[in-house]
Amino acid sequence: MKTTAAFGMLCLFLVGGSALPQEGKAGLRIYWIDVEGGAATLVVTPEGGTLLMDCGWPGPRDAERIAKTLHAAGAQKIDFYLTSHYHTDHWGSIAELAALVPIEQYYFHPFPDASAKDVDPKLKETLLSLSQGKAVVVAPGTEVPLRGAKVKILSSNGRVLNEADGAPQVRKCEANPEHPAKPEDTSDNARSVGFLLSAGDFKFLDLGDLTWNVEHKLVCPVNLIGTVDVFQVSHHGLDQSNSPALLRAASPTVAIMNNGARKGGSPATYKWLKETPGLREIFQVHRNVATTPDDNTAPELTANDGDPCEGHGIVLTVDPSGRTYTVEVPSKKTRKTFDVKK
Ligand SMILES: [Zn+2]
Repeated sequence: MKTTAAFGMLCLFLVGGSALPQEGKAGLRIYWIDVEGGAATLVVTPEGGTLLMDCGWPGPRDAERIAKTLHAAGAQKIDFYLTSHYHTDHWGSIAELAALVPIEQYYFHPFPDASAKDVDPKLKETLLSLSQGKAVVVAPGTEVPLRGAKVKILSSNGRVLNEADGAPQVRKCEANPEHPAKPEDTSDNARSVGFLLSAGDFKFLDLGDLTWNVEHKLVCPVNLIGTVDVFQVSHHGLDQSNSPALLRAASPTVAIMNNGARKGGSPATYKWLKETPGLREIFQVHRNVATTPDDNTAPELTANDGDPCEGHGIVLTVDPSGRTYTVEVPSKKTRKTFDVKK
């Protein structure tokens, strides 16, 4: 992040100030904090509840961005920290974050056995030590008791709702015979924790980096998700995830992609999103600098254009009436309001 402290404070003022309605009670807010190709999604409820899904890369940068966003939102602690999975771009800054902000409870999926090569043993030790006495190992169906919203885990450890332990990753589904399975994904992406957040009629889906085969089990033969208002594009927009089958089933109105300047944002994913019936707008944390303008959303819907960037985020506020929500790109002074689905 190449920015001065003063500029950073200005950004925070804009993010915090613009997220809060002028009068009355603030609605539920969701912040996509720029962690440059990782993930850090913060939910702050009107009742003061806080949930953070993922905390970006190791080092102070992302932890500081998260802490600043949390404080600008008027919160002092994280009630629930949820790790989607054990890749460094998702839980990298946990030690630095816990040193900056109190974290009350840690939610995560079971650790894979020690042979898994994509889980950093040092980060594992750190998480286990920080979460002693405050850990909840989640399974599909677990609910996170966030004040002011219902948060239900839909996928965890390769399983989806209503599946027994040891269920295979690829399951034939007669209802959608044309959906091609991919080779089995043995990485921790396939074990991502995914949740559906509901606040009144408003629904937000975040599946972490969940990949193709497991996401298909969420929608075939039965759509276990239902339809949603807002979808955090999975896996930074990579096309190993975000199958058209998933997108059509969840049928989001708004998609928000937490890609990096050179990570995620696959042209195929962008095309599938554009082709999703009912999808009105795609927001990106970064322009993908390696692809064409046709493979990226409009500049006013993109928080960061360049590489290096200034670490701008995206913020969503549900109106206190629960009938509309507004997505803002403060760096572009863009605000777009959408109706909550009934
Ligand atoms: Zn990732």
